Amino acid sequence: MDLGLKGRKALVCAASKGMGRACAESLAREGCDVWITARHADLLEATAAAIRKTTGAKVTAVPGDIATEAGRQAALAACSDPDILVNNAGGPPTGDFRKFSAADWSAALEANMLAPIYLMKATIDGMTRRRFGRIVNITSSTVKQPFASLALSNGARSGLTGFVAGLAREVARHNVTVNNLLPGSIDTERSEVFVTNHAKARGISREDARAELEKEIPAGRFGSAAEFGEACAFLCSAQAGYITGQNLLVDGGAYPGTF
Ligand code: NAD
Repeated sequence: MDLGLKGRKALVCAASKGMGRACAESLAREGCDVWITARHADLLEATAAAIRKTTGAKVTAVPGDIATEAGRQAALAACSDPDILVNNAGGPPTGDFRKFSAADWSAALEANMLAPIYLMKATIDGMTRRRFGRIVNITSSTVKQPFASLALSNGARSGLTGFVAGLAREVARHNVTVNNLLPGSIDTERSEVFVTNHAKARGISREDARAELEKEIPAGRFGSAAEFGEACAFLCSAQAGYITGQNLLVDGGAYPGTF
């Protein structure tokens, strides 16, 4: 299916690795011009070069920390009027909420709630004027099915989710959609951390820990970043114009509810 994205401008945040990178790759393959951000310039440029090579697309690396005003300004200076915005940042630390300081909470809110909101604020009016916009926020399945140890993530991402629910309805009539994509267990460096933690907690090997975690997933496996990227590209497609304000799980069926 041609997703109708040729020549669209896509700004994909936190995209040197993992799901951000996969989203950038899928959008580049669909013919978008892509701007990618991440903090480490060398790795980011290597990722941009790799995506250029595999897709032939125009890919621009914009180094910077998206959780800071300077990082966001750099991204917006390079790509001031994106048609597509994929919001992403690293996840906050896990642990007992009693041990988190005010600074820990501020950092989680900056990265996982406020940065996406500020970027939407800076770009959404241009999208409504041009009568095309697609915004995808990478959040987490734990917004729907929280774990106590992910206190910082649960709090910050739920704030973003509530904000998006209102915003999506305000801009829908302008062919601008805002959706959240909720990863379950996706094979990336971040999920490696969870496998290692599970192994430590259970006193078992990494391989056994991974097998235990996979057994809990109806699909029987972790998802790939590429599968996640393709879901993102579809939400950004011309065809997906009537899908907005949604929280779409990409979790192999792990969330057990009917809705
Ligand atoms: P990853 O560690 O593989 O990649 C994260 C990317 O974000 C890297 O390119 C990193 O350089 C970049 N990055 C991190 N913080 C940044 C910042 N402040 N500014 C700019 N770039 C930054 O992670 P991933 O697995 O792709 O996860 C992406 C998001 O999804 C994270 O918030 C994570 O917590 C969440 N998540 C992941 C899973 C999973 O199974 N992988 C599940 C649920 C939620």
